[in-house]
Amino acid sequence: MPIRELSPHLINQIAAGEVIERPASVVKELLENSLDAGARTIWLDVEQGGVKRIKIRDDGTGIPKDELKLALSRHATSKINSLDDLEQVRSLGFRGEALPSIASVSRLQLTSTADQNGSGWRYEINAGEAGDVQPHPHPHGTTIDVADLFYNIPARRKFLRTERTEYSHIEQLVRRLALSHFDTAFELRHNQRQSMRLPAAESAEAMTQRVAEVCGKAFIEQSIFFDESNAGLRLWGWIAQPGFSRSQADMQYFYVNGRAVRDKLVIHAVRQAYQDVLYHGRQPAYVLNLELDPRLVDVNAHPAKTEVRFRETRLVHDYVFRTLQRVIAELRPGEQTAPSEFSDKLKLDQLFEQKNVNLPIPGYPTAFEQRSSVSVKEQLAGYAAMAEAAAGLSPAAEAGLLPPLGFALAQLHGIYILAQNAAGMVLVDMHAAHERITYERLKTGYDAADLKVQPLLVPLQLNVSVREAERVEQEQTLLAELGLQLDRSGPEKITLRALPAILKNDNAETLVRDVMADLVTHGESTKIEEARNEILSTMACHGSVRANRSLTIPEMNTLLRDMERTERSGQCNHGRPTWLQFSIEQLDKLFLRGR
Ligand code: ADP
Ligand code: MG
Repeated sequence: MPIRELSPHLINQIAAGEVIERPASVVKELLENSLDAGARTIWLDVEQGGVKRIKIRDDGTGIPKDELKLALSRHATSKINSLDDLEQVRSLGFRGEALPSIASVSRLQLTSTADQNGSGWRYEINAGEAGDVQPHPHPHGTTIDVADLFYNIPARRKFLRTERTEYSHIEQLVRRLALSHFDTAFELRHNQRQSMRLPAAESAEAMTQRVAEVCGKAFIEQSIFFDESNAGLRLWGWIAQPGFSRSQADMQYFYVNGRAVRDKLVIHAVRQAYQDVLYHGRQPAYVLNLELDPRLVDVNAHPAKTEVRFRETRLVHDYVFRTLQRVIAELRPGEQTAPSEFSDKLKLDQLFEQKNVNLPIPGYPTAFEQRSSVSVKEQLAGYAAMAEAAAGLSPAAEAGLLPPLGFALAQLHGIYILAQNAAGMVLVDMHAAHERITYERLKTGYDAADLKVQPLLVPLQLNVSVREAERVEQEQTLLAELGLQLDRSGPEKITLRALPAILKNDNAETLVRDVMADLVTHGESTKIEEARNEILSTMACHGSVRANRSLTIPEMNTLLRDMERTERSGQCNHGRPTWLQFSIEQLDKLFLRGR
């Protein structure tokens, strides 16, 4: 075949192949346009999972009559005009490709009114054939009607899933955008039935309400809100306590300057922050917004604009990681609600199913009396002190006076501490709690001590790539900070001469290779810290109270107070919860009280 220029219609269809994968991709582009146009309300009407029709109306700026045709031509945009604009894009769109691409694979109708009291105009494209601009009444704003998606691309149609699946992708997309554009109201209908309605959320309460609507009540109840800025970077949002984790990475919303992204660097930084509080294999849940100077992010990295490139990778990674690590560390009893994922599972029916529940028989010595070395008198003394302290106080004052974890009443089977606090009953896994306390102490002790570096008797030679060897030369300062003395000893050779003393028995080669891999991909490495923490964690485990050790009431109370003071004390070193709260309401429910 001779070389020919492709027709504009075919060019658009090829472009559509990149960005318009399924109905949800159309919704994404259209919603982004409405948001860019400053819409306060967006109405979205979807039929048959979006395959039959996607109709979106907004009350944004609208498109003037003489620009309607341009809006549908390729590489035409009102959002940028120069390279300088591109380098500091604030709008969600900027490539001028979405509308012509969509129009090339569907029947598209664009109706808009740009001036406040003018009447609207409509422009239609059918199979790439443009019609005329016709007058058509329309309220201020824009309506785009996309019908019969992929009717002319049978190959694409084959890849579409069921109506339900396609629709759930659309819903997920609306949720994703709704969590970053709180001032805009969203109304979503599927097959003429309302399926989602999110009013504009301006106040903090309304925003929380929207997050609850989108991520579920459990998420909002077990997450904390924070807002931190530093040196031109701002990170804010909601992160779930480690106790509320997911088996899938399906509740991770991250926005960079209002743009939803799935960025490897950022995901890595967040995971790292949850490092030693998350149970093995679990995924954290979060809604996070990173804001920074648009010049420091390149958003033109991907046609669908879901990936970004940061100019200063290390800075961003470090900032996200450190900020979240601090926020998570500060989660302590009293500032957080106890993990209730467990208590949710404890449903009444399930409890009654367990027929062998031991009911107390009056007058019969309880298991506690038989096994515990703590005398009943001692127990009562502890209880009396608390009762006295709380006597005559209003519930609010009582809550203020009682420590968050309350006071210990007894030890159960040498494993659990039973305590009473303002909300009700607290159960503490003694070993898990003590392990975390010891671990945190060891870490603090270690951080404070000078980094002791131990020279290797026999330096370790490693074969690496030229790129890695060069990296070692460039990163001398950072490596020294990590306690590694690592030199380049040949074009493809490096030599390890010293490493932190605490790690000396570790497999140094694997460690160095892991650190190198991190440096190359993320520009920094926490592998040394992780390896060190692993050792400290094992030490903590061995140095902690074992099950079946009896504690006195004062000892138990000391442990509770230590927990309140210790960072990350809600989870043991392996991410299991250390304590659970049972409120009086929950207990009442179990006993069918007040029914
Ligand atoms: P881009 O968003 O990258 O500029 P599009 O093809 O998505 O490219 O849209 C082309 C142009 O049409 C936009 O730059 C904008 O000026 C206009 N436009 C599209 N949708 C709307 C809308 N809902 N309200 C106002 N203007 C719109
Ligand atoms: Mg666009």
